Amino acid sequence: MQDKIDRLRTATITPQGLFIGGNWRSARDGALLDVVSPIDGRKLTMIADAGAADVDAAVQAARAAFEKGAWSKTAPAERKKVLFRIADLIERDALELAVLGVRDNGTEISMALKAEPGSAAGSFRYHAEALDKVYGEIAPTSESVLGLIHREPVGVVAAIVPWNFPMMIGAWKIAPALAAGNSVILKPAEGASLSLLKLAALCAEAGLPEGVLNVVTGRGAVSGEAIGLHGDIDVLAFTGSGGVGRRLLEYSARSNLKRVYLELGGKSPNVVFADAPDLEQAAKVSAFGIFRNSGQVCVAGSRLLVERSIYEEFADHVAAIAAKIKVGDPLSLATQSGAISSEIQLEKDLGFAGQALSEGAKLRTGGGRILEETGGFYMQPTVFDVTPEMTLAKEEVFGPILSIIPFDDEADALRIANATPYGLASAVWTGNLSRAHRMVRGIKAGVVHVNTYGGSDNTVPLGGVRQSGNGHDKSLHAINKYQDLKTAWIQL
Ligand code: NAD
Repeated sequence: MQDKIDRLRTATITPQGLFIGGNWRSARDGALLDVVSPIDGRKLTMIADAGAADVDAAVQAARAAFEKGAWSKTAPAERKKVLFRIADLIERDALELAVLGVRDNGTEISMALKAEPGSAAGSFRYHAEALDKVYGEIAPTSESVLGLIHREPVGVVAAIVPWNFPMMIGAWKIAPALAAGNSVILKPAEGASLSLLKLAALCAEAGLPEGVLNVVTGRGAVSGEAIGLHGDIDVLAFTGSGGVGRRLLEYSARSNLKRVYLELGGKSPNVVFADAPDLEQAAKVSAFGIFRNSGQVCVAGSRLLVERSIYEEFADHVAAIAAKIKVGDPLSLATQSGAISSEIQLEKDLGFAGQALSEGAKLRTGGGRILEETGGFYMQPTVFDVTPEMTLAKEEVFGPILSIIPFDDEADALRIANATPYGLASAVWTGNLSRAHRMVRGIKAGVVHVNTYGGSDNTVPLGGVRQSGNGHDKSLHAINKYQDLKTAWIQL
């Protein structure tokens, strides 16, 4: 497979337009943005930098398609066929999509192959299979009345997604929104648009009617804001930072009160008790639970809480695994952790490491930039011992930095685990069944893994509580987000 990847790694990428109403077009004012590859810091291509007028054109196209009904009013069985075809086409072009995405955002290819086209195709398939199994309801009213509860598509859905896993997270939103019969406007992140533009072409090839999926690329502060403030978008589904999430709620309040679903950041606790069934496995999984995709994973286990009796030995072991992780060329199948997505993000990560040192955290391994001669953006997997009041114990880095914290007992572990405003992911490692269940109940998070870290599939929801968000991707619950309930109250 490496030879096929190598053939694709230098393929020319022509400048990319916006996909609106089934056509490719430039931004109305002709604006373009450079796309820089984090692999070597070189310019890859250019993408259209959409403005408010382009967003408006996309919303009009989406609304017109919805009202026309070529998708929204077709039989579920017909919609299902198209969604299955999209999944087939993603699988047909999986390698090309994965390589394109990696050249854009720097994820190691082994991870990108699984998480990007792999998950995206799975998501389209799951929601295709589900769409004709979601029923309305009949209410238990009195004899003289019939109460019907209909499920209807909301209309126009916008999805704003981040750069870390653009296809996977994009599909988590597009697939259920389309399955429910909606029209969609997708806004990729500036640093990861290319694979989603290719996905739009595949959707058209699969027979998705024009205007049903529109892709608007460009700067968040411009096109993202225009989406947030648009008066004719019914639902806005977002994955990204808490700061932008707050703005989207404000935009909604200032415009048409569109429903806003937020999937935000985390500072997820990974809690290891001395009675874990396999400490060797716990150390290995904990290291990869933070360092895959250079820690640029919303559910990354970035806080490792270790019971004091095994602390030194366990922390040593995790740091030794981290030091051996092969960081480098994201397009090599042997690479275990690729590039940081941009120079700005790299500087932010290095800044966190510097601040940790100045606050007195103990550096066990890493801490610096590497492979600078490539022109790309790479950082060593980094492990610090921290105390709960240090910045690294509280703030999301979204980079390859692990903070390790000791705890004394179960109550102490729970107190530290919940001592951030976040609540996205978590894990507990223990051989004690009752303790595992107590921790599952006690940890404030959208997911608690037990004796593993990061496992998931399409059958279970993913989302956060507290400041990690308010909506769930994946599973049948995701379809509900893109539907309205309508009651018919019929006097008999
Ligand atoms: P970001 O918030 O900077 O950007 C996300 C998207 O929002 C991009 O498409 C960007 O263009 C757009 N945007 C930026 N400013 C905007 C504005 N003013 N109005 C509208 N849109 C705007 O986030 P990021 O740096 O791309 O991603 C990293 C963050 O995403 C981290 O906090 C991470 O934890 C989070 N994340 C969460 C999940 C999850 O499922 N909870 C998954 C992946 C990433």
